[in-house]
Amino acid sequence: MADNIYVIGHKSPDTDSVTAAVTYANLKKSMGTANVVPAAAGDINNETKFVLDYFKVPYPEKLIDATDKKVILVDHNEMGQAVDKLSEANIVEVVDHHKIGGLKTGNPIFLLNEPVGATGGIIANLYEQNKVAISKEMAGLMMAAILSDTVLFKSPTCTPRDKVAVEKLAKIAGVDPMKFGMEMLKVKSDVGTKSPRDILFGDFKKFDFSGVKAGVGQIEVMELKDLDPKRAALLDEMNKVRQAEKLDMIVLMLTDVMKEASDLLFVGDDKAAKGFEKAFSGKIANSSIYKEKVLSRKKQVIPPLEAAFKA
Ligand code: MG
Ligand code: MG
Ligand code: MG
Repeated sequence: MADNIYVIGHKSPDTDSVTAAVTYANLKKSMGTANVVPAAAGDINNETKFVLDYFKVPYPEKLIDATDKKVILVDHNEMGQAVDKLSEANIVEVVDHHKIGGLKTGNPIFLLNEPVGATGGIIANLYEQNKVAISKEMAGLMMAAILSDTVLFKSPTCTPRDKVAVEKLAKIAGVDPMKFGMEMLKVKSDVGTKSPRDILFGDFKKFDFSGVKAGVGQIEVMELKDLDPKRAALLDEMNKVRQAEKLDMIVLMLTDVMKEASDLLFVGDDKAAKGFEKAFSGKIANSSIYKEKVLSRKKQVIPPLEAAFKA
């Protein structure tokens, strides 16, 4: 329907972007706006399916072209990460927790961006502020989003507010958050059946670092050695995607959640390689730089890359 308002997260949808679409659409409806439809800008991943199935919430529809649509962006605000043809859409709201990346709108809009661990916690606050009761299902989804985005509170993006929100939401949802979080993480870590392409695009975002076109993906696993057999194929896929998408570089963060470290796989041209080495103060060996204590793309990978290419 032409007058539908789609609530939609980023491409390569993660649990926060999908559940934010569902829970924010539910809030808008509860507040009297009809025709609000949650959507996902791509296929829903296994972790998110686990979450939606667990709380018996239907999957949002897939929207791959935003031409002439009214959209509310959640969990992202950069064109390069958004559903195709966003420039032809009418952006009516943004609710996010990422850096602002050049968004332009034709009209004044409601824009809420807060430096917290997940969009889920921001939306939970909006329920409270608007005195809308949070159902068991919606509580479960928002809790899962925070646990997923903060990697069970381990990520440096996690704030005290995220922990408080999870405690509250878990009570409403009636689950033990850490037990649930570990189960969710196990689903995410199960890379055995995933193709290199699925792993790379499971969580993949594009950035522009002073003209250097980059893709930065992340896969979180319980143990890095689970990915060893796939390493060569992953690098192959990264090279293919780099050619096809005309990117200067691709970084894939292989994140070991238990050790709290990431192996940063790299493919790219010489200039990109220099910037990458500068950003992480290391030398590329066997196509990667290993970094202790690095878990967050947003806080620990994107800012140093931006700084390295700026100079
Ligand atoms: Mg996200
Ligand atoms: Mg998020
Ligand atoms: Mg993430």
